[in-house]
Amino acid sequence: MKPKLETRDINLSFGSKHVLKDINIQIPEKRIVALIGPSGCGKSTLLRCMNRMHDLNPDAHVKGDIFLDGENIYSSDYDVVGVRRKIGMVFQRPNPFPKSIFNNIAYGLRINKLAEKKEIPNVVEESLKGSYLWDEVKDSLDSSALSLSGGQQQRLCIARAIAIRPEVILMDEPTSALDPISTGKVEELMVELKKEFTIVIVTHSMQQARRISDHVGFMYLGDLAEYGPTERVFTNPQNELTEKYISGSFG
Ligand code: ADP
Ligand code: MG
Repeated sequence: MKPKLETRDINLSFGSKHVLKDINIQIPEKRIVALIGPSGCGKSTLLRCMNRMHDLNPDAHVKGDIFLDGENIYSSDYDVVGVRRKIGMVFQRPNPFPKSIFNNIAYGLRINKLAEKKEIPNVVEESLKGSYLWDEVKDSLDSSALSLSGGQQQRLCIARAIAIRPEVILMDEPTSALDPISTGKVEELMVELKKEFTIVIVTHSMQQARRISDHVGFMYLGDLAEYGPTERVFTNPQNELTEKYISGSFG
């Protein structure tokens, strides 16, 4: 099967610090890929390469290519705004805009001209249903998003991400700031979302990676030390470091 997203020999340095080393990873379509590994090994940095988030950082030097459906998103004629539309991102701390629940979602639709004015309420409703938040907020769409709980805010950020119909969603430790019940809801949501979207998630939780991912990549000091089907990596790791990490002997 052709990968949805593929990195080829990605190297990244911040100034003189070499943070990613020849990363080659293939992300299959409509699957969840989890990136695990000790702090500082480059997981977030790799995730951010995947939608060119480092473009604005003059210290970040990226070499190599990333293909989305076979097209190089790092080629000079690829539309960068289009990259962010096709490859959305959800961050560790929920970061809703200081706007109403409704406008958190409507805003991106308006500025990207993705829906006719009269269509916007429908898309907002669909997106909130898609992130399993609708029943909790349908009577308070005009309330500030900041009045929601942390778990609700994160599901709102996911609704905002899916509203613009990306193809890939990158999530950087999306549940690390959430309580166990909210975490469970967001995990269920991710499994549901992979019917339509390709998901790459960074997680510190081995249990989470095992519960929800189809493939797992273990990163260590800027290398992709191991990558394979989740069950295989957890039951029969090929790299001694992976085994040590998942058995909890370091990290
Ligand atoms: P992880 O997500 O695996 O914890 P990161 O990708 O955040 O790791 O960081 C990898 C390395 O790159 C770390 O040594 C970190 O200090 C460094 N780093 C991350 N972002 C920047 C930046 N904007 N400028 C300089 N160094 C950075
Ligand atoms: Mg990180």
